Amino acid sequence: MADFESLGLKGGVWTHLKEARSHVVCLQPFLPHLTSFRLLAYGWRDSIWHLDLRARRRSEACPCGRHGSTAVHSSYRRTIADVPIAGAQVLIHLQVRRFFCRHVACPQRIVAERFSALVPVRGRHRVGARTALRHIGLAIGGRAGARLAHTLGLSGRYRTILRLVHGASYPLLAAPRVVGLDAWAWRRGRRFGTMICDLEGHQGLDLLPERSAASVAQWLQAHPSVEIVCRERKAGMSWQQFLKIHWNVLAATDFFTVEVVTWHGLVTYYVLVVMELSTRRVHIAGITPHPTDAFMTQCTRQLTDDVDGFLLDKRYLIHDRDEKFVHGFDWMLRASGVEPVILPPRSPKLNAYCERFVRSIKEEALHQIIVIGEASLRYVLQSYLTYYHHERNHQGLSNQLIAPEPGMKGQSGQVRRRDRLRGLLSCYYRDAA
Ligand SMILES: [Zn+2]
Repeated sequence: MADFESLGLKGGVWTHLKEARSHVVCLQPFLPHLTSFRLLAYGWRDSIWHLDLRARRRSEACPCGRHGSTAVHSSYRRTIADVPIAGAQVLIHLQVRRFFCRHVACPQRIVAERFSALVPVRGRHRVGARTALRHIGLAIGGRAGARLAHTLGLSGRYRTILRLVHGASYPLLAAPRVVGLDAWAWRRGRRFGTMICDLEGHQGLDLLPERSAASVAQWLQAHPSVEIVCRERKAGMSWQQFLKIHWNVLAATDFFTVEVVTWHGLVTYYVLVVMELSTRRVHIAGITPHPTDAFMTQCTRQLTDDVDGFLLDKRYLIHDRDEKFVHGFDWMLRASGVEPVILPPRSPKLNAYCERFVRSIKEEALHQIIVIGEASLRYVLQSYLTYYHHERNHQGLSNQLIAPEPGMKGQSGQVRRRDRLRGLLSCYYRDAA
């Protein structure tokens, strides 16, 4: 490719080579990695420095163990990108010779020159350029790295940079003790892997291609220094998780209304019910046609009583955003050690157990009768609660009764029926034998 004319050099072939040799000597401090090569020619074309090189050695050692001969079989050229000179890109056109091997038993007979200190066997970037590209890729990634490399005079497409980053091996600085697991996406929403980080050293350790317990267990077996494994953290817990964790200390409350016939016409009565979720035990906290602040305060006082309050061993009380649950209600609950859990607007499903009780009492009792007077309402509610606790089996409790009476546990006695509310509610049981 000798491009001497473009550089203004004139003379015969020997003159050019002499010039070239002298340039190598001058450039030695700048291109120390090329001192073992003979500069055949150099040129400046398309804003790129082109260097024609050939190794100085006369022969190549054969893998069969014998020293190869100096007899050249043939040659070919490899193009290798080097680090830039003064910001200008450098391409090395390396002449690679093939030598005959004179060893009689040599299996390959012909051996090509290798330049392991300069470039890998099929590499297209010199070792120094590969290192530079890999560091750029590690710092800012593939595509941005390719743009920066182009600006700096390093030739490297983004796929090359990614391949160099992926192919590099990194020594583990210290044995990890506390590691964290998290998900990372190959293809967001479609394929996820597992990312493992050293939480003490604040650095990534490994990327597992899949998201499975087996792959993590295999990784942990290969790293016996790990003592603590932290799973990914979520911003909060789901509603189901909350219920599950606090199941035994949870209560829920809700209002329902009953139309009662009085001397003054139909009056709407408000009934405040509280349910212990784990046992489904229900308590009527108050009945009133006027759910004022004073009424709510009195109900709260009774619920949180130190001796026999329904919320005595409860830690959370779930209620909706009904305006009847005034600020003082929550304040009194907190003062007695019960944390109110206020549900989001329009979310009756979150208070499903309490809502289900209200539906049951309405369908099974209140919608079947006309309630006349407050005393009648109290009687109906009390009768239904007795039936609900002692005589009605519950699907959520494996069809068991909440609090079965001792006399109703018979297995072989006579079948009897017990009626409440004049036959509206009934249950069947066997006499204890
Ligand atoms: Zn050989």
